[in-house]
Amino acid sequence: MASDEINLLVIVVDVNPIWWGQQAQRETELTLSKCLDAVMVLGNSHMAMARTNKLAVIASHCEDSHFLYPGKSWRAGDSCGDDASSSGDGKYELLSVANNFIAEEIRKVISKTDVKGNSTDTLLAGSLAKALCYINRVSNDLEGQEIKSRILVIKAADDCALQYMNFMNVIFASQKQNILIDACVLDSDSGLLQQACDITGGLYLKIPQKVALAQYLLWVFLPDIEQRSQLVLPPPVHVDYRAACFCHRNLIEIGYVCSVCLSIFCNFSPICTTCETAFKIQLPKMVKPKKKKLKQPT
Ligand SMILES: [Zn+2]
Ligand SMILES: [Zn+2]
Repeated sequence: MASDEINLLVIVVDVNPIWWGQQAQRETELTLSKCLDAVMVLGNSHMAMARTNKLAVIASHCEDSHFLYPGKSWRAGDSCGDDASSSGDGKYELLSVANNFIAEEIRKVISKTDVKGNSTDTLLAGSLAKALCYINRVSNDLEGQEIKSRILVIKAADDCALQYMNFMNVIFASQKQNILIDACVLDSDSGLLQQACDITGGLYLKIPQKVALAQYLLWVFLPDIEQRSQLVLPPPVHVDYRAACFCHRNLIEIGYVCSVCLSIFCNFSPICTTCETAFKIQLPKMVKPKKKKLKQPT
């Protein structure tokens, strides 16, 4: 029974060109291409673990996200007629085809990069939504078969508070679908991903040494939940559960919550900007003049 079970791993890689550009200047040990090598190592290992294991890789860019694997041309050509794919070194063909695909697609993504756009933040919420849609499609295609899916986010750039709403929606959608979100964070801690992992039962790890990315991926993120229970993994992190206010997208500890739509605000406003409910919050003051009015006619 267990051998028929399908394990789908979706890897979301942050390829934010600005962060990776700065990173290349800071230290040369971990570059984007080395990060993608590590992703391929993990992807290959996952596919080699079981015949039924499936893989998808999504690149999360500034304003959009791209499927690195499987791509559109992958579905059209299916068993890829590329000469490069058959390396002849006895390597499992699927793996070398997948690796060639990922390398080819990332080259396209990076060469098309146009940083003239307004936003320099990684569109992580969008990529996660894409991952969920893909998982949904795969499980629809394989109806009747049991499928276990998880998402691994490899996060580089800082959090974007603007995406807070979309991000939370994605997290709760995955929780509902029993999809685990794991996070491997390269640089500064991400409050959003900490919440995502905590809510969905995934693993959050900010790696102490970026150079060892491939090792951390294989050690911590290759095993699935059942195998993880047998391992001694890094201790869980303290989760930053602050919410972002809907008005300025600042992270706040205490704020005002709309009683109708549950929007969060850092300042009181008499009308909720989300659902346009007017609050009658200053009732005590309103009562006094009414009493006077009542007294006057009597
Ligand atoms: Zn605010
Ligand atoms: Zn409201």
